Amino acid sequence: VKITHPSLYHSQWEEISVMDERNTPMRTYQVCSVMEANQNNWLRTRHISREGAQRVYIEIKFTLRDCNSLPGVSGTCKETFNMYYYESNNANLWFIKESQYVKIDTIAADESFTQVDVGDRVLKLNTEVRDISNLSKKGFYLAFQDLGACIALVSVRVFYKKCPLTVRNLAQFPDTITGGETALVEVHGVCVNASEEFEPPKMYCSADGGWLVPIGRCVCKPGFEENKDICQPCRPGTYKASATDAYCTKCPPHSSSPHEQAMECICEKGFYRAETDPRSMACTRPPSAPENPISSVNETCVTLEWSPPRDTGGRGDITYSLHCRKCSGEGKKCAPCGSSVHFVPRQFGLSSASVLITDLQPDSNYTFTIESQNGVSDLSPTLRGTVVINVTTSQTGENQVSHVVLKERRSKDSVTLAWQGPERPNGAIVEYEVIYYEKNQREQNYTVLKTRSNMMTVDGLKPGTTYVFRVRARTDGGYGTYGGEIELETSHEGKKKIVENATTHFCFRHCGYIKAKQDPDEEKMQFQHGRGSRTYIHPHTYEDPNQAVRDFAKEIDASNIRIERVIGAGEFGEVCSGRLRVQGKREIYVAIKSLKAGYSDKQRRDFLSEASIMGQFDHPNIIRLEGVVTKCKPVMIITEFMENGSLDTFLKKHDGQFTVIQLVGMLRGVASGMKYLSDMSYVHRDLAARNILVNSNLVCKVSDFGLSRVLEDDPEAAYTTRGGKIPIRWTAPEAIAYRKFTSASDVWSYGIVMWEVISYGERPYWEMSNQDVIKAIDEGYRLPAPMDCPVVLHQLMLDCWEKGRSDRPKFGQIVTILDKLIRNPASLRELANSSAWSDPPTPEFSVSTVDDWLDTIKMGQYKENFSSAGYVSLDSILYISMGVTLAGHQKKILSSVQSLQTQGTHVQV
Ligand code: AMP
Repeated sequence: VKITHPSLYHSQWEEISVMDERNTPMRTYQVCSVMEANQNNWLRTRHISREGAQRVYIEIKFTLRDCNSLPGVSGTCKETFNMYYYESNNANLWFIKESQYVKIDTIAADESFTQVDVGDRVLKLNTEVRDISNLSKKGFYLAFQDLGACIALVSVRVFYKKCPLTVRNLAQFPDTITGGETALVEVHGVCVNASEEFEPPKMYCSADGGWLVPIGRCVCKPGFEENKDICQPCRPGTYKASATDAYCTKCPPHSSSPHEQAMECICEKGFYRAETDPRSMACTRPPSAPENPISSVNETCVTLEWSPPRDTGGRGDITYSLHCRKCSGEGKKCAPCGSSVHFVPRQFGLSSASVLITDLQPDSNYTFTIESQNGVSDLSPTLRGTVVINVTTSQTGENQVSHVVLKERRSKDSVTLAWQGPERPNGAIVEYEVIYYEKNQREQNYTVLKTRSNMMTVDGLKPGTTYVFRVRARTDGGYGTYGGEIELETSHEGKKKIVENATTHFCFRHCGYIKAKQDPDEEKMQFQHGRGSRTYIHPHTYEDPNQAVRDFAKEIDASNIRIERVIGAGEFGEVCSGRLRVQGKREIYVAIKSLKAGYSDKQRRDFLSEASIMGQFDHPNIIRLEGVVTKCKPVMIITEFMENGSLDTFLKKHDGQFTVIQLVGMLRGVASGMKYLSDMSYVHRDLAARNILVNSNLVCKVSDFGLSRVLEDDPEAAYTTRGGKIPIRWTAPEAIAYRKFTSASDVWSYGIVMWEVISYGERPYWEMSNQDVIKAIDEGYRLPAPMDCPVVLHQLMLDCWEKGRSDRPKFGQIVTILDKLIRNPASLRELANSSAWSDPPTPEFSVSTVDDWLDTIKMGQYKENFSSAGYVSLDSILYISMGVTLAGHQKKILSSVQSLQTQGTHVQV
């Protein structure tokens, strides 16, 4: 920064050359009018362009003389000076009034010096940095006001911070000037050479000049592959067909690429690539001929079968086509068969190596040509792959079966059928074939059974189902046509059903089962005692939701409740605090949620579902249900009162006021509550700091259990493309993508809660949009460690945010890890985003758990009181005020608490 000549202001500042430590001359501005009163000496810079930066930093280096070392100056000598700025679009102002300047700060020296003796190196150089933000004009002037100090201004450096040009995911991001105080600047990247946008690339430039959250990417165009932030051409012999393929790959068999940048390889002569073949597939050729054709004649029908060609041409899509010629007369002259002949399943494009040909003329000669084809046959100019077979049809007879009847019903799932053989068979009967299928299901599934006699028992039928049975006979000459056909409907046990059919009348009774209705009590027992541990019962399990409320929530007489004040708004009405008189006990503080007037039946059910869920839980870190009022209006849910309200608001209010150990103590509570819920197979789906409540002892409890809560209640929940509302920032990717909500997705949310807690209620992913969050997560981005976050805690968060849900820790493991950290606070010292240890050292306790501590002070009999009140970590006992009634014991506990306090933890007892 060039500084204007001081004479302009008639001030006492002087430009002077001095020698620095290396004896090179340097220019300084000095002033030292310490003897006279009322000094006001100004020194001003020329116009400094801001170059688009909204926030600039000013680093000044100066020396300042200690007034005490100057004799006879008391009263007039000063040890500070002022720094000002003036914003202006005019770069040529030669005069600015004093009153127009905006003060940046009063600058004092960290170290003043007593002797002006540069040769002895006693000159103490001070460095101070200040910043000015929200600049908007072209530039500004800086000014230094001296009021009677002895100063040498050695350098003034003015700078702003930029996120440096960088290439990420093949997108180039330009040098970007940082934004204001906290705002992230969204920057769009430009794809590097020979690449194209796969998803619009962007990143955020943070206030301290670092790039955050890369989203989207560019990919190398076909024929190019990625190599160290650039796209380079594929080498000969390799190719890349699609931009989304990562790398060039070797040409597949029977193909080659003689030049660079190949997008596909060229097939060798005689080999082809079908239009739909992927470029990665080998080039192929038409198949050889089918082999070993055989025929079996059945009167005027022929079945042809053959073996697939020996050479498939390298493909799996072989089909067959048939050509039929009828040959007659002495000279065996052949002509096309015409449309009277039928092929089953079809004549062309057969996928299996057999076909049934019907409606041939009896006693005639036919020639069939079977041709094999595949996906490249049409591309080849040469025909390969045909085989010829000659067939002679036989005389016909009358083989039709008639009068199929139900002979006997042996048991509930079996019937015996009987029928009459053909009246005029054209040979000896070889066997009968019975086919049956469920009515209207023939295409999917039918069963064929064979017998030599004219009677058959069919077993294994389904109840309540209509079946069709058909029978035909086979002689040496082949199968006859189907004769009798009967239709039977099996019935449920106890019911008789008469089924009519073209052939016969019969009754068919079936011992099916009726899905017996379970006694809800029986079902519940099953749930609760299954596998030895208690399991959460979904209120929907109950046919009558009111029964669930009766089973799990105590009815409270409204006259025992005193409402005192409104503390919040819930989905269904207001939330109040008040007192509840419990029979035989003292009054307790409670939160009262009431259902607003004019509710629908469904709203009442949903409202009370929270009580029937909460009432199943009993844990110090789960909000406790006291009971419900359902017998009179308004309908109410009464829970324990949590003095400090929801965790997110609480943390924002107390930003920076807790020790790491205290924060870990809170997280430990949440984890312990969640372990309990996951052990009960309850999936929360909306775990977030806003849904944790904090009591006066800093104990955190999980709340918000209603059935509709994720859908309607949470303002954070956003609609997803698949419908349904999800709090995106807190939710695991698999739950967003395909609604896979599990305890493992709750663990993901828990990781976000950890981040919220350590950052004192910062919004996860700041002001990024939900869509950007989803994309960023998918691309592997994870929230960075909050300020002053111990490495171990950030690592635990990252573990909770593993993509694979089975790779995430279980809540039980999280509790164990946090307990270890609380026991060994030294492990929390290493911070994730700073190598310097900035917090005061955390005390190391000689006891490790609340139980140990109580044992140590011989107060073990109160273990129960402590744990049931939620004092689960040593940290939380520092917030004690509880039911230890013996005065001596209270004293002993409190004095021990005080000794813990003096070891360094902040306490409010
Ligand atoms: P909810 O409908 O459960 O989300 O409750 C709405 C608001 O009421 C919460 O955000 C809390 O601020 C407050 N609240 C709910 N339950 C309690 C409670 N047991 N103790 C204290 N405040 C509560």
